Amino acid sequence: MELGDRKAKVEKMFGLMDEFLKNDSISLQKDILDHVEFTVARSRFSFDDFEAYQALAHSVRDRLIERWHDTHQYFKKKDPKRIYFLSLEFLMGRSLTNSVTNLGIQDEYADALTQLGFDFEVLAEQEGDAALGNGGLARLAACQMDSLATLDYPAWGYGLRYQYGLFRQIIVDGFQHEQPDFWLNFGNPWEIERVHVSYPVKVEAVAYDNPIPGYGTRNAINLRLWAAKPSDQYDMESYTTGDYINAIVNRQKAETISNVLYPDDRSYQGKELRLKQQFFFVSASLQDIIRRFKDLHRNFDEFPEKVALQINDTHPSISIAEVMRVLVDEEHLDWSKAWDIACRIFSVTIHAVQPEGLEKIPVDLLGSVLPRHLEIIYEINYRLMEELKKSFGQDYDKLSRMSIIEEGAVKSIRMANLSLACCHSVNGVSRVHLETLKTRVFKRRWIVVSNPSLCSIISKWLGTEAWIRNVDLIAGLREYAEDPDLHTEWKNMKRVNKMRLAEYIETLTSVKVSEHINFTSFFARKLAHLLSPDQAIYPIFQVSLDAMFDVQIKRIHEYKRQLLNILGIIHRYDCIKNMDETDKRRVVPRVCIIGGKAAPGYEVAKKIIKLCHVVADKVNNDPDVGDLLKVVFIPDYNVSVAELVIPGSDLSQHLSTAGHEASGTGCMKFLMNGCLLLATADGSAVEIAEEIGAENMFLFGAKVDEVPALREKGTTLKGSLQFARVVRMVRDGYFGLKDYFKSLCDTVEDGGDFYLLGYDFASYLEAQAAADRAFVDQEKWTQMSILSTAGSGKFSSDRTIEEYAQQSWGIEPCKCPF
Ligand code: PLP
Repeated sequence: MELGDRKAKVEKMFGLMDEFLKNDSISLQKDILDHVEFTVARSRFSFDDFEAYQALAHSVRDRLIERWHDTHQYFKKKDPKRIYFLSLEFLMGRSLTNSVTNLGIQDEYADALTQLGFDFEVLAEQEGDAALGNGGLARLAACQMDSLATLDYPAWGYGLRYQYGLFRQIIVDGFQHEQPDFWLNFGNPWEIERVHVSYPVKVEAVAYDNPIPGYGTRNAINLRLWAAKPSDQYDMESYTTGDYINAIVNRQKAETISNVLYPDDRSYQGKELRLKQQFFFVSASLQDIIRRFKDLHRNFDEFPEKVALQINDTHPSISIAEVMRVLVDEEHLDWSKAWDIACRIFSVTIHAVQPEGLEKIPVDLLGSVLPRHLEIIYEINYRLMEELKKSFGQDYDKLSRMSIIEEGAVKSIRMANLSLACCHSVNGVSRVHLETLKTRVFKRRWIVVSNPSLCSIISKWLGTEAWIRNVDLIAGLREYAEDPDLHTEWKNMKRVNKMRLAEYIETLTSVKVSEHINFTSFFARKLAHLLSPDQAIYPIFQVSLDAMFDVQIKRIHEYKRQLLNILGIIHRYDCIKNMDETDKRRVVPRVCIIGGKAAPGYEVAKKIIKLCHVVADKVNNDPDVGDLLKVVFIPDYNVSVAELVIPGSDLSQHLSTAGHEASGTGCMKFLMNGCLLLATADGSAVEIAEEIGAENMFLFGAKVDEVPALREKGTTLKGSLQFARVVRMVRDGYFGLKDYFKSLCDTVEDGGDFYLLGYDFASYLEAQAAADRAFVDQEKWTQMSILSTAGSGKFSSDRTIEEYAQQSWGIEPCKCPF
């Protein structure tokens, strides 16, 4: 075609399209109805909430795609250095509200839906969570993607599109049961399948793209998730030998690689499928990255000027060996040049703090699955050791600690040491553990989505919405921390959020925590799948919204010490039981809320969940206690539950034994929402104390440097008498199931108390008493709450990303013009 003809055609094409999709109410209504009719294939005169949600999601998706195309065209034109964020887990939660908020058209959509007879909030509840991760590190990955988009960085995320995300937790008779998370069963409007973007990794890796919109910018970046599909080449031999049925069965097996997320958030040791998952996603991502690089460049000397690779924890660190393999075996670079390139492109964030949490792969396993990669790792290690000998001489102890290979009964590869050997930048997640950069983990937009009333108050008092993008501005709230008008607004906001949470709890458990509940609530519908007929076992109580909502929601782990919380509740219960009526009047009423999933094979954690239920059963049914104490377990904790629970909490508990929590991402979200923290000096709590002042939180327990000596003392270490008493109550079967709980009690007594519950119990109770005293003085409490929010700016993932961009990745923003 002649150039002139082509130009005329292109112009005609543009003439046929609107420049941008329109966002006025009528256009949005029309759009939604078109999607009802043509995408969902329902009549526009008759569709239900779920179908309306689907149509709405597709309409939002159109707007995302528009920006996403523009952004990528722009990146292509500018060819900036890009950051590639590799993570085996992304805990994205829901997309609808986040997307319309970031696109800046929430009010327009709400209005359009009202005109059509629907309610935005009700439709938003139709969406399931994308739970492609376990906890903190996966949530961090999601927040960092949001920050990368918001700050206009040329970024890509890469991960795995698991067919089954994190299991659903249902509770039957107080016991956790796991059910598969069929999150893709009803389709996923937020992804775009790219059948033409696929790479062979023994099987075929097919790309699914998820646009991630920035807030207050036109940029929308891409999260590319890989799914395993049978390759055309796969098992051709069986076809040709006529074994047709087996060939089909084998094709299906290929898909198992990306089938399921490993549900254990601490240990993945020695799992063959896990290693295959890591390699599958790393290899496909690197093929994609190198293909993009080669579109415009020939010489690998330029690679570090165009590519930065961030690996989220050690899980993707096999990518270091894979880059070396590609550069040496396929691109024929000599080893030192290839190694120099690898060292310049990789950075890592390490999340585990205890040696047992660090990932190791048995040499035999790696050798059988990826023999060439094992060879490469041996070569890297040999050179590393030679280099280290120059500094440390014959100090074999030190050398063996730094070696990538761990000798021992099972010879293994230490993935963290491989990362440390290569990466030019290593970030820990909090300063307690690594004196380098800190990883801060919530995104400011999170409260825009989950706590709009708080956002309005902040914007009103600061006189601007700029704080949503500019992390430093929120500190301006400090100036008004004692202002009675702000106090009134703040307390009202908290009450409304507590009401929402109370309504949710009531639907869930039939524990009545507030009066005048509207049973037409959409929670009832939302939760129908979680409730079994025998679950509404608690009678209805009246607990005022004036009670302190005291929350601990996170994965269930011995080191996170939910058991300490439950033993504290038992102590509180025991005290109330022994009080006369005058003393009872002085008790601060509490609703104690616990939630979290236990890894399916983690017996102790599952017993902790059951203990929580039996204690709840006893306490909630005891007329001596009445309104003074209620205990609630919230099942199936996930991102959307967090969005509801966190804004409605007064106090949040972070009880990890000092030295065990890498960061604790949850506490920062509570902080920003103005919840007071009751915490050990672990993970990010230490930095939070520096920022808001230790007097504005309730710190307790042994310090990191005291823990080893306390453990040494072992059996001679006695917990307090109070501790002995509450453990005895459980042991003696006061809450039932005496035999079942025996082993749980053993973990904290008789010298077996590795996580120091006995030692910390007295100081924990003191911190709890201090929280009670503070709560009685509501003005003081509100002031502490305001100061918590005001001090949260430092912990925004935006700031981390800015620091990483400058100090680790060497990238610049690349803002797509409007
Ligand atoms: N799980 C979910 C769903 C979360 O939203 C978060 C944090 O935001 C976590 C787990 C991690 O919580 P924590 O750091 O308290 O363990």
